[in-house]
Amino acid sequence: MDCVFCKIVKGQLPSKKVFEDERVYAFEDINPVAPTHVLIVPKKHIVGLQELTEEDACLVGHMFVVAKRIAQERNLKGGYRTVFNVGEDAGQSVFHLHLHLIGGRKMAWPPG
Ligand code: AMP
Ligand code: ZN
Repeated sequence: MDCVFCKIVKGQLPSKKVFEDERVYAFEDINPVAPTHVLIVPKKHIVGLQELTEEDACLVGHMFVVAKRIAQERNLKGGYRTVFNVGEDAGQSVFHLHLHLIGGRKMAWPPG
């Protein structure tokens, strides 16, 4: 399948790995928007949140637990943001589900 994140998960494209287990792979975003910008992706190809089914509810919960652990490891005590961009209007550019973990600086609300 011609999917950038599937290729990263399989090691067919380079990435800076942050964490891996049997269900998820986490790596540094190539274009970081903050001192910490990690992407947590399921190893299984899921297009995005719109395509999620009840069967994958635990997997998405696990993605958040992994995000929390990475935030703890990086000592993001001041706070951080976890984001799913869903669809083109929200800025989704890679169509393999990914959770952004962004932190290490103050952030504005609402997002642009
Ligand atoms: P989104 O806009 O929510 O779809 O986010 C896609 C993210 O993937 C962006 O922040 C990109 O910088 C990042 N990205 C795209 N290609 C790569 C890559 N090969 N390695 C790491 N991050 C990537
Ligand atoms: Zn994929």
